[in-house]
This record gives sequence, structure tokens and C-alpha cells, in this order.
Amino acid sequence: MKDTNRKISIISGPCSAEDRSQVLSVAAYCAEKRFDWFRAGIWKPRTKPGSFEGLGSPALDWLSEAQNEYGIAAMTEAANGQHVEHILEHHLRGVWIGARTAVNPFYVQEIADALKGADIDVFVKNPINPDMKLWMGAIERLERAGVRSVSAIHRGFAMYGQSKFRNEPYWQIPIEIMTERPDLPMYCDISHIAGTRDFLGELAQKALDLNYNGLMIETHPHPEEAMSDREQQLRPDQLSHLLESLVIRKPFEDDLTTQELILYREQMDGIDEQLVRLLAKRMDLSSRIGK
Ligand code: PEP
Ligand code: MN
Repeated sequence: MKDTNRKISIISGPCSAEDRSQVLSVAAYCAEKRFDWFRAGIWKPRTKPGSFEGLGSPALDWLSEAQNEYGIAAMTEAANGQHVEHILEHHLRGVWIGARTAVNPFYVQEIADALKGADIDVFVKNPINPDMKLWMGAIERLERAGVRSVSAIHRGFAMYGQSKFRNEPYWQIPIEIMTERPDLPMYCDISHIAGTRDFLGELAQKALDLNYNGLMIETHPHPEEAMSDREQQLRPDQLSHLLESLVIRKPFEDDLTTQELILYREQMDGIDEQLVRLLAKRMDLSSRIGK
């Protein structure tokens, strides 16, 4: 990364913890690169039954081993209060709430209650549907529970129909949150927005240009053999290469006007995309009528 006046936090690690040596080797790489966080999922919310659903609590031992061995802070996903209890027993330094859990206020509240008084940082992904209030509501539940450090992770939103990305970014939503809550750290999970390695560079650069505080990026020693999210994970050397290619521009700090202009531009881009999609649909219908 060029020009490091601005600190960009990096959360990286495999989509899922698969075995001890995979966890420890990726954690060693993240520590060597001085990333802020090592991530690995152990309870995996999968769209279809029969997919790999994670190794569960036994894998927590490897995450705490990674923290002790390499001094890097580790985090995993919690989807209910019981997960939180296991995570706290293993003294992980961080936990994230996934997109499929952030949609459910009952689960978010259960997690917030389980986290009361705990010495751990919490990251809240956006809910799968593009609902800014639901996302902020989840964040507020954790803040009210007295969690000492809450951050937001933008991982994109599910949409029906074709899209360039696995999840539609709708940049206007996180930008609006950043404008309303400049104190809340905002991360961009480029891996789950992209869904494929091809778009990671452009998404990472865009997030930095929009003044995000950090990036979440999945990395795996052999992505083609990964047990989840094969298409989007980078090998560690590919990740280093991507990070070196990023340009960190000067932050616009308290310049609200610039933030507002970006917000309006993003909203217009969103409307333009919808118009193009609708026009394409219309053309398709009229050509069917023609036939
Ligand atoms: C993940 O981070 O691996 C994950 C499952 O995330 P999300 O909740 O964004 O789908
Ligand atoms: Mn994943």
C-alpha cells in the first residue's frame, strides 16, 4: 500500500477453519504482515443444506492457539448466545455477527446479552436485505449492552436477478451510516461482495477512496480446495500483491460536503444501474413481442 499516513485495518483469514495447520499457517502469514485481525469461520451459515457447515467449537482451540503463538487477535462468527459463550471461554479478541443473523433482532439481542461486560471487540455485518435501519438497530443493541468496541462490516446485499457481484454493494447505505455515525469504524468485506477473485482489487480501492477504516478479505493457502467460498478466496501471495497495488489517498476528514457529494453521486449511480436494468428488461420484452 502506498502512502500510509492513513491507517487501514486489515481483517484476513480463511472463510472457514478447516484444520489446525491451515489455521496456524494463515494466522502466521497475517501476523507477519502485521494485519490487525485473523478471521476464520467455524459455524457457517450455508444457503443450502448439505454444504460444509463448519467444524464448530473444537476449532476454537486452533484460533486461541493462533492468538497465543503469533500474538494476532482472532475473531470468528457467532450466530447465537451459545456461540458467544464458547468464544468467550476461548478468549478470542473479536467476534462478528453475520449477515444472516443481523437480520434477526431476537438473535442479535441474544448475542448482545451474552456479550454484556465481555472483554471483546464486536463487528456487525450488514443484514442481507438493504435495510439501513435494521443494520443500525443491530449496532445499537450491542452498544446498549455496553460492548466496548463496535464496528460495522459492509458485505453487500442480496438481490433478485443478475448482478455483476455476488452481493450488490449499494454503497449509498454504508456511506449514509458513515455520514451519520463518523465515530463508527466501517470495514468493507470485499470478498463477500465480489464472490469472485476478479473484482477484489476494484472493490478494495473503491472502499479506500470512500474513506473506509478497513477491509475484510478472505485468504486460503489453496483456494481451489477450500471447503467454502472457493471462488473468492485469495492465496496469501495474491493478497499481498493486491494490498501492494492499493493507493491510499488523503482522507477528507471532517469535510462533510465531500461526503455529501459522494453520497449523492452514489445514489445517482444506483438509480442509473436500475434504469439500465429496467431498459434491458423492456427491450427484451419488446423483442419478444416483435418475434
Ligand atoms: C463469512 O464471513 O464467511 C460469512 C459467512 O459472511 P456473511 O455473513 O457476510 O455471509
Ligand atoms: Mn466466506
